[in-house]
Amino acid sequence: MKHISRRKFSNTIAQGIGATALFSGMPIACGMASKQENNKKLGVALVGLGTYSTYELAPSLQETTHCYLAGIVTGTLEKAERWATKYELPQTHIYNYENFDTIVDNPDIDIVYVVLPNAMHADFCIRAAKAGKHVICEKPMAINVAECQAIIDACEAAKVKLSVGYRLHSEPYTQEVKRFVKEKTFGDIQYVSAEAAYFSNTHPQQWRLNKALSGGGALMNMGVYAIQSVIYSSGKNPISVAAQEFSTRPEYFKDTDETITAQFEFPGGTIGNIMTSHNTNVNRLYASGTKGWFELNPANNYGPLSGRTSKGEEIKFPHKRQQALQMDDFSKHILFDEPNKVPGAMGLRDMVIVEAIYQSIAERGKKIALQLS
Ligand code: NAD
Repeated sequence: MKHISRRKFSNTIAQGIGATALFSGMPIACGMASKQENNKKLGVALVGLGTYSTYELAPSLQETTHCYLAGIVTGTLEKAERWATKYELPQTHIYNYENFDTIVDNPDIDIVYVVLPNAMHADFCIRAAKAGKHVICEKPMAINVAECQAIIDACEAAKVKLSVGYRLHSEPYTQEVKRFVKEKTFGDIQYVSAEAAYFSNTHPQQWRLNKALSGGGALMNMGVYAIQSVIYSSGKNPISVAAQEFSTRPEYFKDTDETITAQFEFPGGTIGNIMTSHNTNVNRLYASGTKGWFELNPANNYGPLSGRTSKGEEIKFPHKRQQALQMDDFSKHILFDEPNKVPGAMGLRDMVIVEAIYQSIAERGKKIALQLS
């Protein structure tokens, strides 16, 4: 394959989609008519081709029914070339961070999926909305409540749909948990507990350890899953939270939280407990009710998940890529007006809780009242 310079990579696309072929030898025509061929399939552009896009989202988009990989946004020429070849993307559907806004002119891109470091979510989601594209924003939705609200406002103003990358709402184990709660299969839930943690020992320069890019450590990364778990396994939003922070490797976690625990009160007296960490491996959800208990372990990894209940039953479903289910669900929301399983308001609610947890820690574990609708 013939290579071109990075400068040309930036300039060529910026000068106009459909101009000179970027990568000669590339199968330019492939995918051009894909929207017509894939009648009712929405085109998705992934913004940021890191680990999650590479190993989860792009492979999932090979399994989706209602959407397909139509474009990419990357700052790296080598990735652009590799992805174009692998997924047969036309050069007209490849953008960089500078010319991203010209995506407005591409009718094949219906959904922009922002998969960048957390501090970049708001900027790219808002720009996507202004380009008239529906938006999926990865979790955490942004790095503070104000940014989450700005994303929601931009999508409302542009009349585009918005979802957050909480993939579990589309997978069957989580839906079973929600059914247990709704149907009171285990009575009234009195206690919920969730741990979402993994041991991190990667390069100290990674963006997750840089607060300016991540917004925070374990809580921003895995903690939102634990928050989600206690909410859907209790069926309620919390009314208060108190939190504590622990650090055993301060030389590694210089800028971000390593381990956080938090206790929640829910309406009706349900109590919740979470732990999130970048220093240990735990991935679990447990709920105890007046008629028994249920547990998922693992509860929030990419699956297969696993679960059991006090009735001696195993919770078991066939495994499918969660991200394929998630993106198909959002596409069905757009195409067929089906419910949006993860609206922007959910990401914003979780950021209100995240901010309250950080406030509680700053105020030495003080109980912070939450007013969530
Ligand atoms: P990653 O580090 O593997 O990829 C980040 C991408 O952003 C890279 O392609 C990088 O080149 C690009 N980038 C652009 N500007 C950058 C900058 N200034 N600094 C660093 N990288 C920059 O990260 P990831 O694991 O793919 O995570 C990306 C997003 O996806 C995060 O918001 C993360 O929370 C989310 N995520 C969600 C899940 C999930 O299960 N829903 C899983 C993993 C990641």
